[in-house]
Amino acid sequence: DLLVNQIAAGEVVERPASVLKEVLENAVDAGSRAIEVQLEQGGVRRIRVADDGCGIDRDDLALALERHATSKIATLDDLERVATMGFRGEALAAIAAVARTTITSRAAGASHAWRIDGSDRSLAPAALNNGTVVDVADLYFNTPARRKFLKSEGTEFAHCDEMFRRVALARPDLALQLSHNARVIHRLPPGTPLARVGALMGDDFVTHAREVEAESGALRLTGLASLPAYSRASRDAQYFFVNGRFVRDKLLTHAVRQAYADILHGARHPAYVLFLSIDPAGVDVNVHPAKIEVRFRDARAVHQFVFHALTRALAESGA
Ligand code: ADP
Ligand code: MG
Repeated sequence: DLLVNQIAAGEVVERPASVLKEVLENAVDAGSRAIEVQLEQGGVRRIRVADDGCGIDRDDLALALERHATSKIATLDDLERVATMGFRGEALAAIAAVARTTITSRAAGASHAWRIDGSDRSLAPAALNNGTVVDVADLYFNTPARRKFLKSEGTEFAHCDEMFRRVALARPDLALQLSHNARVIHRLPPGTPLARVGALMGDDFVTHAREVEAESGALRLTGLASLPAYSRASRDAQYFFVNGRFVRDKLLTHAVRQAYADILHGARHPAYVLFLSIDPAGVDVNVHPAKIEVRFRDARAVHQFVFHALTRALAESGA
């Protein structure tokens, strides 16, 4: 069973950032209002995520570490939703198979918390005011072949930071904090989407960007897109979210690039944070955890909508 989980881990747990993604998404799914992430040594030494969400009952702690033990599919609707947001109950089992993992949690109404040790599934009473703390230490300590593929501390941290930013941009309503080696990197109070974008992308971006707000039928596009005067854009300053999920998608990238074609001549990259909402029935999300691809039922309509919405926003007087 450990072997099966370790094999599954090869899919889910590519590097510290993939652990962080799964554990952060769980914290968000738990209805948390505040989430704190602590990393050590690029996340290889430790990834610790503390949330104030619904918590996990004593009796469900062991289940949380079993494969396919997801509590998130109660209806067919949920199945569709989980297929877009999570990996259906494999992540924690896979993570616990390749790192020293403990989960401490206090369910709402419980008189105290419980901690489960992922190595032997032993349970012990613990102290915690509310929510859940997932602690993932020494990634790949028991799978040296995988450990060899880890990059430098700086590179692994950069991937974790990027993962954190995606969640932070998608959920400005949450208080989020990230620290690395005991140094606070981001401390983000809950606020408006615009304030969150400013905190993460910088004021320089906000002052050199156009607000996008367009709607057509079930399609809606909001966010910020840089003007040509913004010169600091890099390849990484491009965030597209579909129904709250970060994606990197050829069709969307193409529509954006085309909208910029006449104003950004080749050399420079645009920077943007864009949120597309669409009827979930109109989009398939590839559920492979490492991938972030979508397939639109009516690709042409989506492309045209994004292209026109962005073209219009960029052309507004003052551009
Ligand atoms: P999935 O998220 O796909 O259900 P996971 O392996 O990521 O699978 O998590 C297993 C289960 O553990 C979740 O379904 C949830 O019930 C529980 N869980 C994990 N993390 C948390 C958390 N931070 N707060 C509350 N419950 C959690
Ligand atoms: Mg999960």
